[in-house]
Parts: sequence; structure tokens; C-alpha cells
Amino acid sequence: MSYTGPGFDPPQPRRSLRGPLTVALAALVPGALLGWAVYAAVDGPGNGGSSAGASATASASAPSGVPSSTTPSPSGDRKPSASPTAEESPSPSASTSAPAASGPLKGKVVVIDPGHNPGNFRHTAEINRQVDIGTNRKECDTTGTSTDDGYAEARFTLDVAHRMRALLEEQGATVKLTQDADRPFGPCVDERARIGNAAKADAVVSLHADGSGAGNRGFHVILPGAVDAGAADTRAIVGPSRDLGERIAGNFVRVTGSAPSNYVGGGTGLVTRKDLGGLNLSTVPKVFVECGNMRDSKDAALLTSGAWRQKAARGISDGIVSFLRG
Ligand code: ZN
Repeated sequence: MSYTGPGFDPPQPRRSLRGPLTVALAALVPGALLGWAVYAAVDGPGNGGSSAGASATASASAPSGVPSSTTPSPSGDRKPSASPTAEESPSPSASTSAPAASGPLKGKVVVIDPGHNPGNFRHTAEINRQVDIGTNRKECDTTGTSTDDGYAEARFTLDVAHRMRALLEEQGATVKLTQDADRPFGPCVDERARIGNAAKADAVVSLHADGSGAGNRGFHVILPGAVDAGAADTRAIVGPSRDLGERIAGNFVRVTGSAPSNYVGGGTGLVTRKDLGGLNLSTVPKVFVECGNMRDSKDAALLTSGAWRQKAARGISDGIVSFLRG
């Protein structure tokens, strides 16, 4: 995260995701996420309904935590590098392939908003200026966080965005990025929202990784709360955005095997907020995805793995596809 800098979300005591609490929470969480909860509770394929059973089976092949196949090598991709590497980005053929002439998402517009910008730290005056987010005034943007080894959130978000673009274009979608490190800084959070609005996007996803305390692990999806103040009116997008977010959370669990956040969201992987300009000013369905915590060494090992980022991109994209196909 994001707009208030590392440590915004106060660390909370870690919750055990097993036992009676998990069973209780399972009643509150949707779809495939329920499958994960069932799997976590019983340590194996669950005995729930059909969707839960299918998801639990999928989870069983990729147990929660660290799928061994994606653990980065000690000398591998954790060291920061100035230039893209094979590990850093999808192959040119994948990232430059023309959108499918047809596909299930033909005619659909998806806007991907890679959080922050690798150049923000060189433009602190510009990104610190205040912008109107309807409910409040807030900084234009922030630099974002990084792993302890210096892998920047802004590089992470761009990499996942490129992988998602390739996956969604394969499905026939028209994909637009709010920034592609093709501008010195920003855009500001209000402009990020307006880019999605102007594109008449069918879905917008803002990509982030958190900067919370060590020991805080897992992903969460941030949903817009109902806001009606100044230029902000989210009332029409609260419902569809929740649907989008629930589908992304469920597919993220299914594809990555990662658990929902253990420090926000009460184990659901879903958090509702009213203080983010990128959500407040959106007039189209939009969520943020905090893919993991860069300041936790185990999460950082995932976030710095290209193989894991590909899974994250696929999980989020699968959620978008599910939402757009209804
Ligand atoms: Zn962020």
C-alpha cells in the first residue's frame, strides 16, 4: 500500500485460521474462498457443496503458504536489478500478441491500474500535492513500499499488470493501463480513477503490495464503501465492485494457494474502505488488490518470484473474467 504509506494498517494480533473461528468465518465468505477455508479447517479436500469441494481439491494440489514450485532460488530473482530480465517480464511474444479477434471478453474494457510509479521518488513535490478525493483531500500519489531487499512495489505492480494484460487480451478484452512507467510520475489518484471512468471500463483493478509489519501475511482485496460527498458517489458501484472483489479473492486463493490476509479482513481477504481516492472517484466497478506484504520475508519471497507473479496475475484475471461473464 499505498496512499498513506507503510504501516497505515496497524498490525493486529495474528489470528489462527484453523479451528472453530475458521468454521464460523466459512459461513461468511463466498465461493472459492469458502473452499480455501474448508481446506484450511480440515487439512484436505472438504465435504462442502460442489463449489467448495472443487475449490478444496484445487487447494489441495497447492497447499496454503508457499507452493514449493514457486519458491525462488537464493541467488535468483530477489536481488534488485535496474533492467528487466526474463524473470521480470513476460516474453515479448506474450506481451505483444495482438488481442484476439474474438473471445469471451470481446467488447469488454478492462483498466489495470498499476499502483504508484517507479519515478515517483524523484518527484516528491509533485506527488505530495493535495488532490480532492470527494470525502477529503489527499496526496496525489505516494512512492509505494518495497521489500527489505529493495524490490519496489511500483516495479511489482507494473510486472503483474503486463502479465494480466496478456492474459486478458487472450480472452478478447480491450485492456488499458493507467500508467506504464511512460510518464515521469503519477498519475495522481484522482486521475487514475478518471482514466477508468473515461474508458467506460467494465472492470478496473488497482494493483498493490502492502508495507505492513513482519509476520503479517497474505493478500486482501479492498472494496469501495458507500460514499456520497463532493465529487465522490460510489453508491452505484458498491454492489458490482463487491461481486468483482469476491470473484478475484476466490480465484486468487485457487490459483496462488496463498491465504487471505492474517492482519486485516478477519480471514475473508476482503476489506471495505472509504478513504481511497482511486475508489471514491470511480464510477465503474473497481477494487484494489494488495497481493501480499512486501515487508514480510515469506511474502516477499513470493512477490519477488516471477512464477508466483504469473499465478497472481492469472488469479486476478480469472476473477475479472468470471465477473465479466456473469
Ligand atoms: Zn500501494
